[in-house]
Amino acid sequence: MANKVVKFGGSSLADANQFRKVADIIKSDAKRKYVVPSAPGKRFSEDIKITDMLYKCCELAGSGMDFSAEFQIIRDRYNGIISELGIDMSLDADFDSIANELKARPARDFAASRGEFLNGKVLANYLGFNFVDAADVIVFDTKGILLLDQTVKAVREKLSGLDNAVVPGFYGKTTEGYIKTFSRGGSDVTGSIIANAVKAEIYENWTDVSGFLVADPRIVDKPDVIETITYRELRELAYMGASVLHEDAIFPVRSAGIPINIRNTNRPQDAGTMIVSNDYDFSKESLNHTITGIAGKKGFSTINIEKAMMNNETGFGMKVLQVLYENGLSFEHMPSGIDTMSITLSTDKLEPVREKVLSGLRKAVEPDNLEIEDGIAMLAVVGRRMKNTRGTVARIFAAMAHARINVKLIDQGSSELNVIIGVSEHDLPEAIRRIYDMFINSEK
Ligand code: ASP
Repeated sequence: MANKVVKFGGSSLADANQFRKVADIIKSDAKRKYVVPSAPGKRFSEDIKITDMLYKCCELAGSGMDFSAEFQIIRDRYNGIISELGIDMSLDADFDSIANELKARPARDFAASRGEFLNGKVLANYLGFNFVDAADVIVFDTKGILLLDQTVKAVREKLSGLDNAVVPGFYGKTTEGYIKTFSRGGSDVTGSIIANAVKAEIYENWTDVSGFLVADPRIVDKPDVIETITYRELRELAYMGASVLHEDAIFPVRSAGIPINIRNTNRPQDAGTMIVSNDYDFSKESLNHTITGIAGKKGFSTINIEKAMMNNETGFGMKVLQVLYENGLSFEHMPSGIDTMSITLSTDKLEPVREKVLSGLRKAVEPDNLEIEDGIAMLAVVGRRMKNTRGTVARIFAAMAHARINVKLIDQGSSELNVIIGVSEHDLPEAIRRIYDMFINSEK
């Protein structure tokens, strides 16, 4: 039978009530056979995630200090969930062995991984599912790099005989036998790997929002949810700062052609966002705006270089880029005119070598004029439909002109998937709102 892999984030499993919602979701669809849980997350905004408390315990243990008070809070949280759910199990033996291990060998990855390990045990018991320790199937090399082929093989071997399984997210084991975690938020990656291994028809990623939003809700009031987005569009938006899935969660499912569906545990009736490959049948979509999303990021500088007849000078660009290279700088954009060239790059990266770059450029290309402008924000308007729609850039500029926002640079990727514009940092929120109005509100 076809199957679905379902991953639940920390806020979806923060307390017994959330566990009940999760169980309802899993039980309502027999295809939801493989479950990947995170550790219990925050129940309210000032709450502390179990993962962070485990890091704290490890830190204390590492400096030879007593961590029993912090560890007791962790015990209490799991025990509270177990007793409220009314399940018959005890994690006491696990708690004791974890505390002993932390005293003997306070390793950060081991400590952090126990949040998912314990939560996986509780969830498996509550669902009546098999528990499969991620340490037995997710394999890292000695440098901590995931060994995907080996992992996929191990997952297949382990899960093939099982009707269902809970596999904790976030960690695995190195070939030398040490527990290793992914970076923060890494349960997303585990879910994606399991989906690849079991050839899932879909990878459902359950969280506390009903999908990705067209724009940042702190800037635009109640923005629409993105119904469908391609992996490439998502990458563009994520790069510009839209907070999305863990970056490494895309590759395993993308390569296997498995869509990801972002869903809301607290509103399972919402369809959420589908992340799909470019060859997906988009005719199923009900919304059809020209753009898919807008995201922006502050903290850029532009180096503006002016020199008469620059266009005739062979190797001009090469010399400029050589100076950046020698200073270890990568750049984001490089729009140029006949006698001008500007290079956009991150202010943080430029800062330590600013003077060296300026003097290097003066020496290398002897410009007529050279200046650096800070305080630039970059904004990406992303959408696969722009390619076949005329007037998109004109509409972006009209929106900016009406708002009296000066556009400092523009760059359209050759894939015509995005238009990037640079504006002053203080204009960024208004620029995003105007573009949202132009393309979403006015297309309704
Ligand atoms: N619990 C881990 C974290 O807080 C991993 C995850 O939730 O995906 O980062």
